[in-house]
Parts: sequence; C-alpha cells; structure tokens
Amino acid sequence: MSGAERIDAVVIGAGVVGLAVARALALAGRDVIVLERAGEIGSETSSRNSEVIHAGIYYPTGSVKARTCVDGKLALYRYCAEHGVAHARCGKLIVATDEAQIPTLADLKEKAAANGVTDLVWKTPEEVADLEPAVRCVAALWSPSSGIVDSHGLMLAYLGDAETAGSMVAFHAPLESGAVTPEGLRLEVGGPAPMTLLAKTVINAAGLYAIETAQRIAGLPRETLPTAHFAKGSYYTLAGRSPFSRLIYPVPEAAGLGVHVTVDLGGAARFGPDVEWVSRPDDYDVDPERALAFYEAVRRYWPDLPDGALQPGYAGIRPKLQAPGEPARDFVIQGAEAHGVPGLVNLFGIESPGLTASLALADLTLDTLERGRAQAA
Ligand SMILES: Cc1cc2nc3c(=O)[nH]c(=O)nc-3n(C[C@H](O)[C@H](O)[C@H](O)COP(=O)(O)OP(=O)(O)OC[C@H]3O[C@@H](n4cnc5c(N)ncnc54)[C@H](O)[C@@H]3O)c2cc1C
Repeated sequence: MSGAERIDAVVIGAGVVGLAVARALALAGRDVIVLERAGEIGSETSSRNSEVIHAGIYYPTGSVKARTCVDGKLALYRYCAEHGVAHARCGKLIVATDEAQIPTLADLKEKAAANGVTDLVWKTPEEVADLEPAVRCVAALWSPSSGIVDSHGLMLAYLGDAETAGSMVAFHAPLESGAVTPEGLRLEVGGPAPMTLLAKTVINAAGLYAIETAQRIAGLPRETLPTAHFAKGSYYTLAGRSPFSRLIYPVPEAAGLGVHVTVDLGGAARFGPDVEWVSRPDDYDVDPERALAFYEAVRRYWPDLPDGALQPGYAGIRPKLQAPGEPARDFVIQGAEAHGVPGLVNLFGIESPGLTASLALADLTLDTLERGRAQAA
C-alpha cells in the first residue's frame, strides 16, 4: 500500500493499561509503537484515581473484573517488589455504620471467597478502634491484601520494560481515523508529525475515548460497539495530618465503592470518589458545592471530621458501559471473534480495578489476539 509505513503492532493510548499491553507485546518479541495524543504518559484516568491495589472483593464471580483483579493483584505485588515500584500492602477496612449494613458485609465476604479472596476477616468495633481509633462502626471486614501503589512509578516501569524490549511511544500522535484493509489496519495519525501506518496488530487502549476511537475505524461493524457513558468522581483532601494509616471504605453504593479514605504513600489522606454522571469526559474541575455531601458521607464513619478540614482535590472520570441506573457491566476485551477484524483488540469500559488488573489485562489481550489469529488461520 503506497505512502503507509508498515508496522508490526500499534497500541493506542499510553495509560497504565496501554503501557502494560505494549510491554507484554514487546516482551513477546513484537515491534510496538504506542500512539499517545498527549505529550506524556498517563495524563488521563491513570493519574486520576485512588491508586488502590484492590483485593478482588466486589466483582461478580467469574467476571473479567474478578479474574483480572485477583490475578492482577498478585502479579502487581510481585512486579512492584521486583522493579522497585513504591507500594504498600497497608490493608483495608470495609465498615458498616449501622446494623442494617451487616448482611451486605456478609455477602461481600462470601463473594470475595468465591473470587478466591479467602483472607477477609471480621473485626469488632473494639478491634477496629485498636487499628484505627478515629473510625466509628458497628462491624467491619479486614482485607489484608489490599494496598496502594505509586501509579506513575508503575507506568514508568512498564514503559522502561517496553522500551528496553525495543518499543517506543510517539507523543502528540492522535489516532484520527483508520480502515480495515486486506493487508492490515491502515491508521491515520495526526498531530505535528502526521503519518499513515499499516499495522498487523492494533490494540485500542484509549480509555475514555476507546469507543469513540473505534468508531473512527472504517470497516469495523458499528453494531459491535457499545455506547459510552461517563461517571465523574471527585476527591477532597484533608488539611493536616491523616488520622488513618489504612484504607477505610464504607459499604459500596450503586455506581462506585462509596466515599472512602485512601492514604497515599506520603501518608496524606484523601476522600472520594463520589459519583456524578456527566455527558462528556473532559471536565475535571471539582465543584466546591459537593463538599457538603462529603462531610455527611465521611462523618458516618469518622464523626470527628472537623468543619473546614476538606479541600477540593482532583477528579477522575470512569469509562462506563452502563447508563445511569443500569446494573454494572464487565470489562470488555473485544477481539476478532466479536467484531470480525483480525489483529484488532478493543478494550472497553476499563474503569476500576483497571490499575490493579493492568498486568492481567495485558495477558488477556495477548490471549485474545492469539485466539483471533487462530480463528483466521
Ligand atoms: C475516580 C477513579 C478511581 C479509580 N480508582 C482505582 C483504584 O483505586 N484502583 C484501580 O485498580 N483502579 C482504579 N481506577 C481505574 C483505573 O484508573 C483505570 O482502569 C486505568 O487507569 C485505565 O487505564 P487506561 O490505560 O485504560 O486508560 P487511560 O489512563 O485513560 O489512558 C488512555 C490514554 O489514551 C490516550 N488517547 C485517547 N484517545 C486517543 C487517540 N485517539 N489517539 C491517541 N491516544 C489517545 C489518552 O490521552 C490516554 O493517555 C479508578 C478510576 C477512576 C476514574
């Protein structure tokens, strides 16, 4: 094909998942280019989250979320230890603040065990007070395998591995359009140095824009693409010293895990994220008006939260596949068996626990590619 540079594999998006996939492809001996429209790695959801290593408690048993979270957590702890990525296995308390929530905790314990997370233990209010004196509750579950990770350090480590294995990231390189051709996927890349690529393999890891990006590929059947929905989550930070050294979560709510406390690796506390459905994924301002609801939510488990202690922090946006009010949807790793285009894998709806699951999602993406190739042969 004239004018197009032939490339083995292209990953669209240099967030934590795109970089994990690029690393896995490069380690498997593929020549990889990552197209990133921003000027740096991880400038969207991968740097706007809670940085929690999730245990794998909440997701329906057998779902892609449950499997990749549990496998990804184990792989992530190993990876961080081996590569010197800052992390802490600090553990997490899920707290019931009234008796009516205790059955939900019991359900969570059962669901976790079915997902392979067998280390949750009940804690009495007295035991919780020994661990975290500021927390008020009527019962709690303790998850010892939950933790925190430096998400930027993790992305740098994935990038380092990918580059050492010969791949590169092209910054300011937005994928503008594409087309399925008999020789591979033809990609039109914009930005200051526009180019046309002809790729054998394309992984669409464009996060919040993955569905929109897929819509720009001519020849990809439209009926195989889900509809994008977005749920913003705002965070507030705590002025002064954190009274907590572990993660504290309330009982989960409809589209998120509830306004929880996370501690970062520097020991500072932040509260969030809440859930606000938005029509577009581009406004990251934290509305100071939302503070009232935060005070109310946090005081259920930390009654001594002082007035004026919360300050607007940052916000992230969840790429959702369900509309408001609909049941939660699973991650979608969509290969040729679903859309019929050999060599293309779309990653849709990679909300939480995508950071925890990143290494497992990369493995699953490579498996999906392999199945597509076997089917086409
Ligand atoms: C509020 C919130 C809290 C969360 N908390 C946690 C948590 O505690 N633990 C956890 O495990 N997970 C958490 N997550 C989920 C986790 O952050 C995401 O699953 C993960 O960061 C997704 O990474 P990604 O690489 O798929 O997407 P992104 O980080 O969004 O990366 C996509 C990249 O693609 C680029 N891009 C988009 N379109 C194009 C294009 N056309 N051409 C080129 N580049 C393009 C973007 O610039 C971006 O850099 C949270 C998410 C949110 C929103």
